[in-house]
Amino acid sequence: MHGYRGKILRINLSSGEVRWEDLDPRIINNFVGGKGLGYYLIYHEVPPSTNVFSEENKILFVPGAMSGLIPAASKVAVISISPETNMISDSYVGDRLGPFLKRWGIDAIIIEGRSDEPVYLKIGEDVEIKDAHHLWSKGTHEVSRELWKLHGNGAIALIGPGGENLVRFASIIVDAQRAAGRGGLGAVMGSKNLKGVFVSPISIEDARIEIFDKDTWMKLREEYYKKFENDPSLASLREYGTTNGLLISARRGMSPSYNFSKPYIPDSLARKLSGDCIKKYEIEPEDYIHGKSCPIKCARYVKVNYEGQEFYLKPEYESIAMLGACTGVFDFPKVAYLNHLANDLGLDTIAAGNVIGFIFEMVERGEIGHEEIGFPINGFGDFAAEEKLLMRIAYRRGIGGILAEGVKRASDILNRGREYAVHVKSLESPAWDPRGLRTYALSYATADVGASHLRGWPSPASLPNDGAAKELVPSLIESRDKDALFDSMGLCKFLPYEMEDIVSLYRTITGLNSDLKNLGWKIENIARIYSVLGGMNPIHDDSIPLRWWTPQEDGPARGNMAFRSYEDFIEARRKFYNMRGWDPDYGVPLEDTLQRLNMNEFVEDAIRGLNYQKRRCQTCSFS
Ligand code: SF4
Repeated sequence: MHGYRGKILRINLSSGEVRWEDLDPRIINNFVGGKGLGYYLIYHEVPPSTNVFSEENKILFVPGAMSGLIPAASKVAVISISPETNMISDSYVGDRLGPFLKRWGIDAIIIEGRSDEPVYLKIGEDVEIKDAHHLWSKGTHEVSRELWKLHGNGAIALIGPGGENLVRFASIIVDAQRAAGRGGLGAVMGSKNLKGVFVSPISIEDARIEIFDKDTWMKLREEYYKKFENDPSLASLREYGTTNGLLISARRGMSPSYNFSKPYIPDSLARKLSGDCIKKYEIEPEDYIHGKSCPIKCARYVKVNYEGQEFYLKPEYESIAMLGACTGVFDFPKVAYLNHLANDLGLDTIAAGNVIGFIFEMVERGEIGHEEIGFPINGFGDFAAEEKLLMRIAYRRGIGGILAEGVKRASDILNRGREYAVHVKSLESPAWDPRGLRTYALSYATADVGASHLRGWPSPASLPNDGAAKELVPSLIESRDKDALFDSMGLCKFLPYEMEDIVSLYRTITGLNSDLKNLGWKIENIARIYSVLGGMNPIHDDSIPLRWWTPQEDGPARGNMAFRSYEDFIEARRKFYNMRGWDPDYGVPLEDTLQRLNMNEFVEDAIRGLNYQKRRCQTCSFS
């Protein structure tokens, strides 16, 4: 094969067996890599309704089809059944992990079972399961340093105490500064007693895969690198990365400020956590951190000294906005410290900011008191309380044990606050409030993993977008499919590769004529059938939180809900189901659709899912 070695690395932590398995070329041709290949594999490996913390759940690391082979193809997909949603969940992380796996000739790693003792994996020429007793209960920064000292400059994916203690939104921290943050996949690693995965470095010249047309590939690599390096439309990204995001979201009324209760905030406040304010702390990154494959190099690195503690951080909009604006802490060094702490503990910064914003709002409304929380707390802006809560969540102490369940379950356990628990399908909302750009909510409502900001946005993305939401469905689908293609190829979404660029690069590397145009659609069908069979109810769950049905009070989107009306939402959702070839009433893929996409092996399950959904609706008073 070209572009692949055609091998899956299967590691069973219960038996200690490490095995190389052949990967059927037809599966590669159909599902390519990264997200596509990962969804296909996990669908067949883990039955719906599997207990996420049982030995039967598995976790996959699947490099994109072109990871490490073309500029900014830096991503690896981490895929499992999510402890937050009980659905298939995928999270992506860049830099060196994906490229190294691809270059070692590993098309996918499947990790299954559970080790009796803490272990980590060392992958390179050989694959070893190594003792991790001495690393357990340590933070991700310290363990990264220890492993680099011991094994050299490889790529490392680690969990912190959050994952060890099965916090449902535990993250996986890569190379100390990046995160596969969403969906709680760190807790799946924790449930397997797996502290981390170390992958030895390997250069592109030593890659264990053959390229179909090597000369053209080398020429194209060079050409695309130069093209993007000099692209003036990427100047702001080059200058700020995502750190100017709060200024942009706040101006549109899309920020998560004060637990999404004030999405519009003035520039003077937003600037405290964005752009030039963060730039003041910027340093030149070390070569090992920055990587050399990206022509943009958007990652900003800062050095912050907070109350005598000096630390390095790669700040991103989502983390800063959720741990800062969402909790009302508008002070960059403090928020940087919270971000550093959350990374060290191995917590998803988006979900952590969301649950803390939630509890702060409960305090402000007088719905929870100091006695129940366990210490004095002032509500929004209480930095000291936020720091304490992060620690308590990671170790599941006191109220932290409830918040560690995620915002949906926490509001259920407390039996309060459901109207301002901001999530979709139990996944906490990221830092873009769709009331500022109406109809973005349809993306959240229908995304395969719950509230994700990375599942396609409709266009045009300009205010006031007063039209009917259904008008934007075709553009949402187009954008979503493009995202899925990028996630399958291992591409960073900031790079303006066009469809034809990807097709030609993929052919040059693999010689394959895969149907890339329909890949995203196929993946979305797999996710949907799996979710429905696992209990997700599209009629209830393809929805948005109550908060987004409350009109905004201020700013350019004043008076906006996330949709013009409930009818507007239902019409748009129905159109989305129709365009996807799903049953318009029940939201489940139809037989014809699957046959058209050459997905016959899924037809039986889809019919079962549709019948199951019909039966549920017949006995439900909701519809
Ligand atoms: S644009 Fe930024 S996030 Fe994307 S690959 Fe380059 S450095 Fe990484």
